[in-house]
Amino acid sequence: MSEAFDDITCKELVELVTAYFEGALDAGDRQRFDAHLEICAGCRTYVEQMRETARLTGRLDPDRLDPELREGLVESFRDWQRRR
Ligand SMILES: [Zn+2]
Repeated sequence: MSEAFDDITCKELVELVTAYFEGALDAGDRQRFDAHLEICAGCRTYVEQMRETARLTGRLDPDRLDPELREGLVESFRDWQRRR
């Protein structure tokens, strides 16, 4: 995978996820979102959980996500910040 300068980070993906499911992302953001999912297993899991939660509850509610998964994502955000 190329590391384009406009790749989004895990943190940005999480911020965009609601818009993603609502179909509210513009084409560029949508593309970056999908590109990030291809290279990041953690975010794929996150999005799949969001999709499953939305399917089960009929709405999006990040607070219903598996707490361990949320913790894992928070950890990966800390790693990102350390590496920057
Ligand atoms: Zn990610």
